[in-house]
Amino acid sequence: MVNIVLFGPPGAGKGTQSEKIIEKYGLKHISTGDLFRKHLGEGTDLGKKAQSFMDNGKLVPDHVVIGMVDDFLNDNTGEKGFIFDGFPRTVAQAEALDELLAKHETSINCMLMLEVPHEELKKRLLERGKTSGRADDQNEEKINIRIQEYLNKTLPVASFYEQQGKICKVKGVGSIDGIFADIAASLDAHFKA
Ligand code: ADP
Repeated sequence: MVNIVLFGPPGAGKGTQSEKIIEKYGLKHISTGDLFRKHLGEGTDLGKKAQSFMDNGKLVPDHVVIGMVDDFLNDNTGEKGFIFDGFPRTVAQAEALDELLAKHETSINCMLMLEVPHEELKKRLLERGKTSGRADDQNEEKINIRIQEYLNKTLPVASFYEQQGKICKVKGVGSIDGIFADIAASLDAHFKA
């Protein structure tokens, strides 16, 4: 199996690039943000637990996210591999993911880090907010909270994977296809090594 963590701040282009990665490498996509929005839409108990955190731009508590990913992995056996999008977002989630994957006798191969300057992020999120219908994209204060959550809680996840020698860094600015070409080159080089 090949398992990739797609990493980067809110608005880095993780969703867009993961579609292209899935197409080329045949991996199964798991986006915790999308899963939460689905639960919210369906009004499940899990959705109710996540709602206030999401509405305020805060991270949902680790145990809620980890339980949801555990269920997803148990429901999707027999895949070639996974691309994790928006997860893990804390070091505790990264540690839990290692344990969950070990249960399925697999592990993370690489963490792909999309680097985008903060001013560019804000611009993109506000632009997305005009059409996405996502409340958390329409308000500058909530965007700032999400970027702060990223800097405080999520960035340490990069060191976690760096210590394991699993990081590939890619510049997330430029054309969608240009960025993808860099991602593919980086992944191919990583897998050859
Ligand atoms: P973005 O890519 O814009 O940051 P996502 O769609 O990945 O947004 O996530 C939206 C919201 O869902 C986050 O702001 C957070 O409240 C919640 N969320 C998603 N994934 C996680 C996670 N791994 N841990 C905690 N909260 C999460």
